[in-house]
Amino acid sequence: MTTLHNLTIKKFHEGLRLKDFSALEITKAYLDHIDARDSEIGAYLSLSAKEALLQAEQADLVLARGENLAPLAGVPFGIKDAILVQGEPATSGSKILADYRAAYDATVTSKMRLSGAVFLGKTNMDEFAMGSSTENSAFKKTKNPHDTSRVPGGSSGGSAAAVAAHMALAALGSDTGGSIRQPAAFCGVVGLKPTYGAVSRYGLTAMASSLDQIGPITRTVADAGIVFRAIAGRDVKDATTADVSYSAEDFEPNFEKLRNMTFGLPDEYFIDGLATSVREAIDRVVQIYNSFGVKFKKISLPHTRYALSDYYIIMPAEVSANLARFDGLRYAPVSGVDRHSKLEELYVANRSQGFGREAKRRIILGTFVLSSGYYDAYYGKAQKVRRLIKNDFLEAFRGVDLILAPTTPTPAFKLGEKVEDPLAMYLSDVFTIPASLAGIPAISIPAALSPGDLPIAFQLMAPHFGEAKLINAGNYYEQAVSGQAI
Ligand code: GLN
Repeated sequence: MTTLHNLTIKKFHEGLRLKDFSALEITKAYLDHIDARDSEIGAYLSLSAKEALLQAEQADLVLARGENLAPLAGVPFGIKDAILVQGEPATSGSKILADYRAAYDATVTSKMRLSGAVFLGKTNMDEFAMGSSTENSAFKKTKNPHDTSRVPGGSSGGSAAAVAAHMALAALGSDTGGSIRQPAAFCGVVGLKPTYGAVSRYGLTAMASSLDQIGPITRTVADAGIVFRAIAGRDVKDATTADVSYSAEDFEPNFEKLRNMTFGLPDEYFIDGLATSVREAIDRVVQIYNSFGVKFKKISLPHTRYALSDYYIIMPAEVSANLARFDGLRYAPVSGVDRHSKLEELYVANRSQGFGREAKRRIILGTFVLSSGYYDAYYGKAQKVRRLIKNDFLEAFRGVDLILAPTTPTPAFKLGEKVEDPLAMYLSDVFTIPASLAGIPAISIPAALSPGDLPIAFQLMAPHFGEAKLINAGNYYEQAVSGQAI
């Protein structure tokens, strides 16, 4: 029997065609489940139930007319609050945007509308996507559905928790240094960070523009491929999007392609801080791929050790520029701020009261590394190091097809465990940041449960625009462990 617990996009569409259920029934089931469960989990910041039901009815109409279903027809989604859905709140987890509603649709939103998606609501996130636990949200803390004393990861923690707790069939997140992959890993779901330039960011509230990418969080690898193909592509409204077409054929399961591959295992990702449970889980993943015929090769990405520090120069620099636009005059007023007779005083009051601690920390850090006396020493140098990190990957991909590594050094940590120690928090992204700096695609896939029943994940990284290879390789792993056909 199909229940929300074993539903995937593929099964959902099969069920619709067989008339096992209607799209409306399924959307209602998700909304009911949100009603029952989300007071405990806190995945959503706002719901758009009425619109969702209308969208679901549309899918049923299309089907009743005997037309083909669009790729996301009737699929109930949670959307990270940084992604604009016209008329809906878009707070980005910040008090400074608490009363803002999106004036237009993001490109991914309009593409998903065209593909028939249903929008259940907007999901919680760290303020302006800055964090690894969703504890930096100005509104609430999201809990990990596998253990509510633990964090769901971040910054797309609401999206990952929604999918993991069956409060959405799929979700969108954004990843600047790991914010799709790390929460997907902590919540036991799949997260794909596309190649930089594969998906338009028009209508995504920017964090660090040279790194931000939107991508899917789903229950299966195949579903991630379906959502990715619906949102990818060149967009005239985002000049960084590339004119790359992904052919449907590339996304068809192809065992021949996989079994002839060589995967790289980077020395630098198997470090002392790696939890034993994670190391063991990765060993088992390697065995499974080995059994398919995949060959493994040890590789070195020597500049990996600079990636975290490099990111914490480049990212805050861009954050400080991007967040300059929030002054409490544009977008929405900041509640609780008194009137001021001087404009500057008003700006100061709005920004002091509107931004949280982490946002302020990064604005200050970013402004410092961009200041005239330090620009070359910090920002300029960081850009050069970034190039070296990217070169490491380009060099490695001459000898291997994909790179396999853990997504995170440990399973989900406790709520409150790292909030007072930003450096410890930053370290949870040490394995996801390098791919972000290099702009390459990477997917996080559930590998195992730890002794305490917490999800552990592995990550596959591919050369630029190699998403189809990630999906193909991920599909067969999933099939092997679940015993279900692709
Ligand atoms: N956790 C990382 C940070 O705090 C990554 C955030 C992200 O990818 N948006 O910057």
